[in-house]
Amino acid sequence: MSENNIIAEFKGKNHFLSNFYKCDFVYNELTYHNAEAAFQAQKCATDEDRIKYTEVTNPVAAKRMGRKEPNLPENWNDISASIMKDILTAKFAVPELREKLLATGDATLIEGNKHHDNIWGCCTCDSCRAKNKPGLNRLGKILMDIRDSLS
Ligand SMILES: [Zn+2]
Repeated sequence: MSENNIIAEFKGKNHFLSNFYKCDFVYNELTYHNAEAAFQAQKCATDEDRIKYTEVTNPVAAKRMGRKEPNLPENWNDISASIMKDILTAKFAVPELREKLLATGDATLIEGNKHHDNIWGCCTCDSCRAKNKPGLNRLGKILMDIRDSLS
């Protein structure tokens, strides 16, 4: 793998890798308009509560709603990565998105951001970089895992 073969942020033509990308897909029998909404919906205890997330087209609004979910599972931090992988597996089962993901070849996928998210991504701000600890890039790793299993 060449060192240059890195997608360092999910913007522009690589925005489809972002959870904020708008695309309809089915997860656990409910249709969501973006992966963020599907993910936040899993903080709910019942499908009845999850339904409202199927109506949200704006991922920022979905994220905001998710912060206020009263029934957040106690072990959310332990299960959230595996939930994310299930959701993104469903998202990238959409043929058009599957093709786009496969077309990234063997590129390293890094969710570079500037909002200090070093769990799902890798913040590139001066202060985070000065700590000399790379972000965990959970999202990028999940996407690379899914790409491996598709190819
Ligand atoms: Zn930062």
